[in-house]
Amino acid sequence: MKTCIHCGATEPQSKFHPRYNQCDRCRKELKAKMGRAYRALNVAAGKAKKAAYYQANKERLLLKSKQNRASRVEEAREQKKLHYRGNKAAYLEASSRRKRCKKDQMPVWADQQKIAEVYKDAAEFRAAGLDVHVDHIIPLRAKLASGLHVHQNLTIKLAKWNDSKGNKFDV
Ligand SMILES: [Zn+2]
Repeated sequence: MKTCIHCGATEPQSKFHPRYNQCDRCRKELKAKMGRAYRALNVAAGKAKKAAYYQANKERLLLKSKQNRASRVEEAREQKKLHYRGNKAAYLEASSRRKRCKKDQMPVWADQQKIAEVYKDAAEFRAAGLDVHVDHIIPLRAKLASGLHVHQNLTIKLAKWNDSKGNKFDV
């Protein structure tokens, strides 16, 4: 029989490590405790090492990350260029549409088909002998308010009414 120096338990020899006066239970516990402490120490050491490395190489690392960022920007630019080259017609169409919209005060969401229908209706009236104009309810370039070139702002009027109104808009 042997007595554990840690917990004081008296146990048969087989429950002890041959060289230590420490029972298997206490040994296990101590090992686990040391393992935890060792791991914690390792984590802290790793962090410290990383921080020291960063401090020692700060300028180089910053430069590297700056270069990486620059090369990513460059890559994106290159890809955009390639996309443009492959879809040039679509880009040009979109750009001219934006310009046209801006000039005509037609928002991008304007329903072009409905606008066309208004003009088609007017053409039918004219074909029937009526002198009509397509007019903007709120003029595009009025002094107090600017209308939009959208079908909601279009109306068909007899030519003589339109002519007398000009760009006046009563608010
Ligand atoms: Zn013990």
